[in-house]
Amino acid sequence: MRIVMCASEVVPFAKTGGLADVAGALPLSLEDQGQEVIVVMPRYKSIQGSQFKINKVKEDIAASKIGRNIQVYFIENEKYFNRDNLYMDKNGDYPDNLDRFSYFCRRTLQLLKEIKFKADVIHVHDWQASLVPVYLKSAYAKDPFYKDMRTVLTIHNIGYQGLFPKEEFTKLGLDWSLFDMEKLEFYGKVNLLKGGIVFSDIVNTVSPTYAKEIQTKEFGFGLEGVLAKRKSSLFGILNGIDYSIWDPQTDTFIAEQFWAQDYKGKRKDKTDLQKICNLPVTADKPLFGIVSRLAEQKGFDILAEAMDTICNLNLQLVILGTGNVKFHTLLSDIVKKYPKVISLHLKFDDVLAHKIYAGSDFFLMPSRYEPCGLGQLISLRYGTIPAVFKTGGLADTIDKNNGFIFSQYKQEELVKTIKAALGVFKDKQQLDTLIRNAMKCNFSWETSAKAYIRLYEKVRSK
Ligand code: ADP
Repeated sequence: MRIVMCASEVVPFAKTGGLADVAGALPLSLEDQGQEVIVVMPRYKSIQGSQFKINKVKEDIAASKIGRNIQVYFIENEKYFNRDNLYMDKNGDYPDNLDRFSYFCRRTLQLLKEIKFKADVIHVHDWQASLVPVYLKSAYAKDPFYKDMRTVLTIHNIGYQGLFPKEEFTKLGLDWSLFDMEKLEFYGKVNLLKGGIVFSDIVNTVSPTYAKEIQTKEFGFGLEGVLAKRKSSLFGILNGIDYSIWDPQTDTFIAEQFWAQDYKGKRKDKTDLQKICNLPVTADKPLFGIVSRLAEQKGFDILAEAMDTICNLNLQLVILGTGNVKFHTLLSDIVKKYPKVISLHLKFDDVLAHKIYAGSDFFLMPSRYEPCGLGQLISLRYGTIPAVFKTGGLADTIDKNNGFIFSQYKQEELVKTIKAALGVFKDKQQLDTLIRNAMKCNFSWETSAKAYIRLYEKVRSK
């Protein structure tokens, strides 16, 4: 099949979140499985020729290559994309985001015709690319070149929808009839993701449970009704992780490498982590790790409530994260009270993240909602047992055989779960079984890519 991956961020060129990982890794696996893929994304200021091999294809189009032979096309536009950040600066979202990403979508469609890429499927991601299916079924509907193209929209996090004032609708060049409750209108505003949901042939999200959750009021951020209407075309496919980066057997960031059959090396990684974190060096205290954006979504509200209790439980806790200033302050205050228990690192640090995944005994991820989640998948591979809230991708990947899971979002339940982990820590045989089960889990991209190929086949037959 001929597939276009259309996304506003793609690893290794630009990344702010998991979307970039998917848009970068999925094409590689698809290519491995014999598919013909191209990628289209905007060219931001940070995508420099000095860093990547980039050549000019047209006046406003550049290109590079990933995998064996996947062309990545960059749409250039001095005014819209030649900026320091992707979506926002210190003053908040860029005010012209609608202009920027509607341009991106239109230019992507034109480009396909210019390079004569008659795609079977255009796979678009999140609100930034959501206008592709809208244009395809409106402005481009009569052009025979696009006639057989089908679209798949992946929603990575329904909390981000691309909302704009009604006055901006005219800029889209669409008929006013599309500014309708059943289409792009959302409580008097323009909602680009909603447009994508209504007009794409298939919608999917990044875990089966999240696909169900977003059809409910609690998780749907107002789009639950629209999604429920598309129920028969709504699917969930788990993200994979890149085991060439996340593998304790080859990881050069960690003090000692280890593998499932012989994970003794993990002890040394724990010692190393305790030293780096200025925590008492001891094998006997269970060490919990957190690597996360510091955001409401990630469970820091119940964690903060439970912190005094947790810190008196004879354990150690390493936290690595950045984000909401509120949580920076809150966690900094708690650390002052328990300097021998918690080690806090308010930054983005890839090397430390690897050391935490390898050196911790347990990985805490009490997210209130979690579309897929990568942290729990990475920690499984490192034999670090996840303790998670039962939601989204966490519910789909963690159970009592490879971790700890609680199903009521309350600080008491979180504490109970941590206590259960402490109990298992004392029972070395039980712990060994959990570690072995965890390390055996396989969440590779190969499996996810196969599921996407089945989805593309389904959409072609529509
Ligand atoms: P989300 O995409 O919602 O932030 P995920 O669990 O899907 O959450 O992915 C987060 C990824 O970012 C993981 O690979 C995690 O290790 C990494 N990460 C998050 N915060 C940090 C940080 N402060 N330093 C290094 N890596 C981080």
